[in-house]
Amino acid sequence: MEIIHISAECYPVAKAGGLGDVVGALPKYQNQLGHVAKVVLPMYRTKFLYQHSWELVHEGSTSMGPNWFRYSVIKEKTNVLGFDLYLVDINGLLDREKVYGYDDDSERFLAFQIATLHWMNQWQHNPDVIHCHDHHTGLVPFMMKFCYGLEKLQNIKTVFTIHNAQYQGWMGWDKRGLIPDFDLWKSGMLDWRNNINPLASAIKCADKVTTVSPSYLTELRYEANGLEALFEYERGKCFGILNGIDNEVWNPETDPMLDTHYNAETVAEGKAANKAAVCKHFGIDGTKPLFIFIGRLVGEKAAEILPSAVGESVALHQGNICFVILGSGDPSIEYQLRELHYVIPNNYNCFIGYNEKLAHQMYAAADFLLMPSRVEPCGLNQMYALRYGTVPIVRRTGGLLDTVLDISEPDFKGYGILFDSPTAWDLNNAISRAVGWYYDEPGILDAARKKMMAIDNSWENSASQYIALYTG
Ligand code: ADP
Repeated sequence: MEIIHISAECYPVAKAGGLGDVVGALPKYQNQLGHVAKVVLPMYRTKFLYQHSWELVHEGSTSMGPNWFRYSVIKEKTNVLGFDLYLVDINGLLDREKVYGYDDDSERFLAFQIATLHWMNQWQHNPDVIHCHDHHTGLVPFMMKFCYGLEKLQNIKTVFTIHNAQYQGWMGWDKRGLIPDFDLWKSGMLDWRNNINPLASAIKCADKVTTVSPSYLTELRYEANGLEALFEYERGKCFGILNGIDNEVWNPETDPMLDTHYNAETVAEGKAANKAAVCKHFGIDGTKPLFIFIGRLVGEKAAEILPSAVGESVALHQGNICFVILGSGDPSIEYQLRELHYVIPNNYNCFIGYNEKLAHQMYAAADFLLMPSRVEPCGLNQMYALRYGTVPIVRRTGGLLDTVLDISEPDFKGYGILFDSPTAWDLNNAISRAVGWYYDEPGILDAARKKMMAIDNSWENSASQYIALYTG
C-alpha cells in the first residue's frame, strides 16, 4: 500500500512539537511493515536542508486566486529518514526559518496544499491513501473531492489526523477566492460558524478521522474549541489511535545526546551521572530530587502555574527539592520563570528557548517530569520520561490518562502520579507525594523506574493500527 503523508512538520527536518515527532516516525514504521510511506513537507530554510543532498523531481506553476506562482519539488537523495521525503519549495512563501508565526501563515499553507495537489495530479499512478495532519493540511480532502481539475484524485482515500484541535486555521470567507475553483454548492463543507475552518472541513470531508489518543477523542465531544457538535455528528468515522515513540531515537542505551548511557539494570547509576551533569550545568544542588518541565509555555500546558508552584514547593520542602524548566512561549511566563531563578538560585533554573539535546539530557537526568496540562491530545513527553526511567506526574486528561497509571493502582500495576486540576495547589500536592517517595521509600522509586522502562510504547503497534484503519 502506498501512503502519502502531507504535513507542516516532520522531525528532524522541521519540528515545533509533537506533530513533528509523529510524522518523523510513523512513515518509517509503516515502511518497516512492508508498505510504502512517503512524506511531503514545505521547504523551510532549516539546518536539515543544508546538511543533505537533494534531487529536483518536479517543477510546476499554478495559481492561488489571482496570484500565479511557480513551485518546485525536491527529494532527499539518501533515504536517510527511512522514507522518501519530498519538500515543496515556493519562493518567498515557504522558504523561511520558522515553521509558523508569520502573518501570512494562512496563505503559506494554502499555497503548499495547492502546489502539492497540483503536483500529485500529474503523477502517472495514484497512491492508495493520502494522510493529512492538522489544520495546515486540512483543506486537502475538500480540494481533492470538490475542486475542478483535481478529479483524478477524487477517489483516493483520505485520512486526517488531529494532533491538536485547539488550532483550526480559521479564515474569513473573503479568502474564498484563494481556494481553487470548486462546486459552490459544496461551500458548506468548508464552513463552520461563518468562517472557512480547515480543521472542520477536514473532519467533514476526510474518509476517516483520527485523534492521537482514545481519551482525547472522547473529550472532544464535550470540549473542542467550538467543534463539539461536529465531533458528535461525525463520531462514526472518528477513531483514537495512541501515538507511539521512536524507540531508536529515544533510547537511553544509545542516545548520542547523552554522555552517560544506561538501561533498566543500570538505571540508578546512569541517571545519577546524568543528573550530576545537568545540575552542574544549571548550577543547582544535585543531591535533591530533580523535577523537570519541558514544553511550550502556554495555557494549554498550564505553564502559567509553574512559577508559583515551583516557588511554593521549594519553600514547603525547605529547599530539599530542585526544578529545571525548558521551554518557550508566552513572554510573561518566560519572564517570571527567568526571574524566579534569582530568588531560589540553588534550587531552580531554566533555559528559555528550544533545545533538543538539552531535552534528551533532562529526561535522562530527572527523577520526576511535570505535566499539569489543561489539554493534552496525546503527549509525548510522558512517554519519553517512561523510557528514560523518569516518573511522570501528570494531570488526568487526554493521552495522559491513556499512558500513565497512578502508583496507587491495585496489584502494584502503577508507576506514576496523577492529579485532577491544573492549579498550583493540586500540582504541589502531587509533588509532595513524589518527595515523600523519594526520601522515605526509595524502594518504590527503584521499582517504578524498572517497571516504566519495560513498558512498550513503540510505534510498531500504532503503525499497524493505522494500516488496519486504511484498509478497513
Ligand atoms: P505539543 O506537540 O503539544 O507541544 P507533545 O508532548 O506532543 O506536545 O510534544 C512535545 C515535543 O516537543 C516533545 O518531543 C518535547 O520534548 C519537545 N519540546 C517541547 N518544547 C521543547 C523545548 N523548548 N526544547 C526541546 N524540546 C522541546
